[in-house]
Amino acid sequence: MTAMVTLALSKGRILDETLPLLAAAGIAPAEDPQSSRKLIFATLQPGVRLILVRASDVPTYVQYGAADLGVAGSDLLAEHGGLGLYQPVDLGIGRCRMVVAAPEGFDYPAAVRQGARLRVATKYIGTAREHFAAKGVHVDLIRLYGSMELAPLVGLADAIVDLVDTGNTLKANRLVTVEDIAPVSSRLIVNPASLKLKRAVLAPLIDALRAAARG
Ligand code: AMP
Repeated sequence: MTAMVTLALSKGRILDETLPLLAAAGIAPAEDPQSSRKLIFATLQPGVRLILVRASDVPTYVQYGAADLGVAGSDLLAEHGGLGLYQPVDLGIGRCRMVVAAPEGFDYPAAVRQGARLRVATKYIGTAREHFAAKGVHVDLIRLYGSMELAPLVGLADAIVDLVDTGNTLKANRLVTVEDIAPVSSRLIVNPASLKLKRAVLAPLIDALRAAARG
């Protein structure tokens, strides 16, 4: 008997982009995960199941082996630290950029030149801390869990660190990118112990996902 393989995914835009890659690798959920409230899904491939967790929790499930593999954004992996995770494939989905953004009228370069202490709102505290420390910019970081774009509009922060895709959200809130931090995309992550114990199932699956991502 082969061991059950568990793949951790999160709902939303990444799931929409992940399902075609899984299908190309021969894995299809037995029912539509986007329209169900279930958290565990059988797939049409016996021995492989999907679990749906919050995006920022995917690395944790895989790190502790509750899931053998998962799909997580490089933004969230950077916050998690990546400890205890293999990251064998850049899936090339969920592409966007991590940036510093500020209100249109705010002279960010001047504030930085003058050594002003900036208030920056973000949910990416680790990434933001590292970015500003490397630049020698003094910041007070304010942790938010969503709608970061609002913070500068109501005086909570001078700037934000957030993801930008089309730029429409920034534009709608009269914010502009003032610094690029890093490109972001989703990665396949694997628990190293699982890879040893379930290599017969996991290695071909990883190869198939790598091929699907390239295709
Ligand atoms: P946009 O208006 O297309 O620039 O998208 C920006 C909004 O969508 C921001 O609130 C981002 O946090 C979020 N966002 C953009 N790309 C992604 C992504 N790949 N993963 C998660 N959130 C994203």
